[in-house]
Amino acid sequence: MVNKKYKFWFCTGSQELYGEECLAHVAEHSRIIVEELNQSNRLPFEIVWKPTLITNELIRRTLNEANMDEACAGVITWMHTFSPAKSWILGLQEYRKPLLHFHTQFNQEIPYESIDMEFMNENQSAHGGREYGHVVSRMGIERKVIMGHWSDPKIQKRIADWMRTAVGIMESSHIRVARVADNMRNVAVTEGDKVEAQIKFGWEVDAYPVNEIAGYVESVTPAEQKALVEEYYSTYDILLEGRDEQEFRRHVAVQAAIEIGFERFLKEKNYHAIVTHFGDLGSLGQLPGLAIQRLMEKGYGFGAEGDWKTAAMVRLMKLMSSGTENPKGTSFMEDYTYNLAAGKEGILQAHMLEVCPSIADGSIGIKVCPLTMGEREDPARLVFIAKTGPAVAVSLIDLGSRFRLIINEVECKKTEKPMPKLPVATAFWTPKPDLATGAESWILAGGAHHTAFSYDLTAEQLMDWADAMGIEAVCIHDGTTIRGLKNELRWNAAVYR
Ligand code: MN
Repeated sequence: MVNKKYKFWFCTGSQELYGEECLAHVAEHSRIIVEELNQSNRLPFEIVWKPTLITNELIRRTLNEANMDEACAGVITWMHTFSPAKSWILGLQEYRKPLLHFHTQFNQEIPYESIDMEFMNENQSAHGGREYGHVVSRMGIERKVIMGHWSDPKIQKRIADWMRTAVGIMESSHIRVARVADNMRNVAVTEGDKVEAQIKFGWEVDAYPVNEIAGYVESVTPAEQKALVEEYYSTYDILLEGRDEQEFRRHVAVQAAIEIGFERFLKEKNYHAIVTHFGDLGSLGQLPGLAIQRLMEKGYGFGAEGDWKTAAMVRLMKLMSSGTENPKGTSFMEDYTYNLAAGKEGILQAHMLEVCPSIADGSIGIKVCPLTMGEREDPARLVFIAKTGPAVAVSLIDLGSRFRLIINEVECKKTEKPMPKLPVATAFWTPKPDLATGAESWILAGGAHHTAFSYDLTAEQLMDWADAMGIEAVCIHDGTTIRGLKNELRWNAAVYR
């Protein structure tokens, strides 16, 4: 999904004052750190060692080379010693990519017996990191600061997470969304300013008449359609539930043609996300259900009822989490029904049809069932139950003068009992800190019913992405209180006027 083989540059700061012998140690130390990080198998992307930065000219040149190098997704800076930070101003002013200040130190434990001034001079990131941090803060440059010893697996995990965020920042500007219908009539929260979204996030959102994409579906050959239906039948459980086998297969075949036709359209026109609307289906035989579910699994973003903001967020979150070891999945989602029984509180999540099977736990079945909306034949859809565990649900809203990203940490669970009459894929979660506070906070923040949902990203990563985009982000988490959240929203309103 991430086409480019991204790399991150490791730039170590120092100065000439320490003499050549010390500078040789600085370079050796940073080489060892880069080698060990690359060999840790905990980082999703390679780190490239760069010669120690000691002068204004070299800092400026290196950071500009990082800007120019398409494969460079960000720079990791480390102040091994004291690096007078005025030397960084010009380079930082011109630098445009994600920046990590890795506040680490080569040496882990103070060698009490042998420590002398020479040792201190060679292990003084506590000193140098503050000088550098001061200037980055004074310049108002958005960056991540990670503090801790470079050999610590927890620290390496944080660097890995930041790398994914950085790739999200880099790739955001390449996201292109195809809308094959406008916004659902009278719905507010799925609307938004597409020009502002392109300025802020780089997203390109284009509309097409639904029959243009339907033409691609009609051009799918019977042989292609048949082959994909056979793939479905060998991959999924066929849940006839009393329907005629031939009729069932014909309904499934309609979705197969939609999957092939839609994907051909998206590839040909270079789109990474798609938006549909049950009220605007043109000559399509069914509301795209199974077809959209399969496209989401392949990495496409999706939003229903014209919701291009969520479609782009689903794509972004799939990009950020791509390559995760043992991924648990990322999907479009919708808040549907509460369980308010004491001790069992939660929100049942689903959509009419379009939930991504990447989040499925266990077997996936195909059902063909009537749909009250859309006025087309009964659509085929994939049905399953989502995994358990911690996850994030995200809503991007347009407040008129600005965007706000709302992130709720949630705990996914199994429903107490099966739901045999519900013909859609579902998840069930309890929002943090609890259902009532989570839902009240979400509503006070103006969050939508549609979300982009992932097990494979953290609130910290999404907050960092929002910070890099220069938009407001609100996280509803274990420590959230209504009073605190209301104050945060008030303060944010002053900051993001
Ligand atoms: Mn919806």
